[in-house]
Amino acid sequence: MTDIYRKLYTSSMMPSINLPKHYNYIGAFLSLSCNLSCSYCINHLVGLDQRRKHLSGAEWVEGLNRIQTEGPLPISLQGGEPSIHKGFIEILNGLRKDLNVDLLTNLQFDPHKFMDLVDPERFKRDLPYPSIRVSYHPETMDLAETVNKVKILHDNGYSIGLFTVAHPDALEYIPAAEQACEENGILFKTKEFLGEHNGKLHGTYHYEGSVFSKEVKTVNCKTSELLISPEGHIYRCHHDLYNKITPVGHILDPKFQIDDIFRECTYFGKCNPCDVKRKNNRFQNFGHCSVEIQDIE
Ligand code: SF4
Ligand code: SF4
Repeated sequence: MTDIYRKLYTSSMMPSINLPKHYNYIGAFLSLSCNLSCSYCINHLVGLDQRRKHLSGAEWVEGLNRIQTEGPLPISLQGGEPSIHKGFIEILNGLRKDLNVDLLTNLQFDPHKFMDLVDPERFKRDLPYPSIRVSYHPETMDLAETVNKVKILHDNGYSIGLFTVAHPDALEYIPAAEQACEENGILFKTKEFLGEHNGKLHGTYHYEGSVFSKEVKTVNCKTSELLISPEGHIYRCHHDLYNKITPVGHILDPKFQIDDIFRECTYFGKCNPCDVKRKNNRFQNFGHCSVEIQDIE
């Protein structure tokens, strides 16, 4: 599909994609593969990469540079692990300077090489949380090594912090991580675990019965997020993106514009926790939910 678009349009001709004012998140899933394998990985709900095709670095740059936002809404490069994409550096350096960029990473790369290639200014923006959010997974990562890498980037001017999921099996490791960050002047935060553990559902969800339910219902649903899969398809929610269900467009389709509408969905009950959890919006106000769901009967 992308080849056809390329024959018709050069990048300078690609029309802008204007985000509705209420949009709160832009997620570019560069790859759903990862260089680690955490047992509680939310991507395991459907399998990590499902042999997906990947947009090239140049295609990501072309597609993401179409995005126009009001205010400082960043494009979050994420996955899986976004840094394993072959065009990772090309994407970071090719995006328009007026676009804000965040990075969600497990930081398995060499921070010194990264600093040689990407300016800390790339991650500067006016929001009350770090642009580079490093996930610390005690099961698969070494704390001292991770904190040391974060400190190197932090001390060289990168907006960065360490985050960990408060998974029941990881709780015992949190105090040490918190202390190590405090000693090194690094922001540390825990995130709520979303999912089932030993038969108990964890997480705070906006819609009762929306996750891990035996029953599915037909509802109408509207999103406040632009979610782009590794192959460039745009989905209305994480559930659809992970399961490759009903993409609503493609980032390299010159005709694509956001339809800010409710769409019928027959999967309520199997929603992905990321879509229906209560969380902070980009201004760090709690209570936001990514989707608005109507007609739950
Ligand atoms: S680092 Fe993140 S994406 Fe990779 S396996 Fe662990 S939880 Fe999953
Ligand atoms: S109801 Fe759930 S699965 Fe359906 S579109 Fe909304 S968030 Fe996605």
